[in-house]
Amino acid sequence: MTHYDRAELDSLKKSIDLAIYAQHIGVDLHAIGSKYRGNCPIPGHSDKTPSFYVNPSDYFYHCFGCGCSGDIYELNKLVYGDSFSQSVERVKSYLGGNLSVEGLRSAPVAPLRQLGGKDRKILEHVVSHLHELFKSNSEAQEYLHSRRISDQVFDQFEIGFGNGYLNRRFPRSSKPLQKMGLVTEKGTDCFYRHITVPIRDNTESITQLYGRGVDSKRHRYLGLPHRSIFNPTALSSSEIVLCESVLDALTIHPFIPEVAAVYGANGLKPSFASQIANAGVKRVVFAYDADDAGHKGAMAGAKLLYSHGVESYRMKLLNGFDVNDIAVRAFSPGDEFSELYRDAQRIK
Ligand SMILES: [Zn+2]
Repeated sequence: MTHYDRAELDSLKKSIDLAIYAQHIGVDLHAIGSKYRGNCPIPGHSDKTPSFYVNPSDYFYHCFGCGCSGDIYELNKLVYGDSFSQSVERVKSYLGGNLSVEGLRSAPVAPLRQLGGKDRKILEHVVSHLHELFKSNSEAQEYLHSRRISDQVFDQFEIGFGNGYLNRRFPRSSKPLQKMGLVTEKGTDCFYRHITVPIRDNTESITQLYGRGVDSKRHRYLGLPHRSIFNPTALSSSEIVLCESVLDALTIHPFIPEVAAVYGANGLKPSFASQIANAGVKRVVFAYDADDAGHKGAMAGAKLLYSHGVESYRMKLLNGFDVNDIAVRAFSPGDEFSELYRDAQRIK
């Protein structure tokens, strides 16, 4: 068995907001004081009345229904059947892989919040500001070009880039910026050197901000619940492609505009499945990563969609690849994606 350093495990655990993580694996949480409550995600406990509590300040969860409790490592073991080392690896990959422990200690963590009308307005201003910064930053644009993401999506999806001066740009909004997880208490930008993409719901309101670190490759979100699938306008089509990351969806979009994304391989939670089905979508083509997590996520997603009468297909990517890797490697990404789309196999 791999040996893990206790201090490192502790530091990993404390760099994650357990409420945000629980949402990431599909639990719909609602704030109750400083804690959060939702339906228990543990297989074998079909929790009809929310009895699963998360307390991010002590990195702990407890279910009053089935009696289980523990930290993030225990949670993965129960939800996914992970061994201890698999659970640690899952936590690491959630954080974006090769982060140093030092990097984790300084990584700010925002608590989960609800968004008010005033916050929403500030967030709109922040998003347009980040977009302006992106348009004048050739390094950020080149980063996306190197990932074969087309200029076509830059304006359409208001791609942004954090330059580290949000507090200075919005001096009178430092409290709301902090509350939403845009800046830390010390005033540091949480999205510094991150490509940013606003996530809007079907009424065009911003519900989340996605960030991808150009150096760390880490995914980052605001301390807000995931209320909407990415690019819900795709749901007006009867058939959609579904990705497990925003960058993957942006990669495919110029070739297949009916593409949406959830947040991670386990991101298709019940409320998103309903959102898809209620919009009238009949077929979903999963373009998840060709790895174990992507496979399991697509299977679980297909099962959920099936219960809503939606058929599922799976794009067969090269082993170990994600959609963006395919584009980076392809001679002609458009041809590659239409072929993969055409050859997608039904998940039964
Ligand atoms: Zn339970």
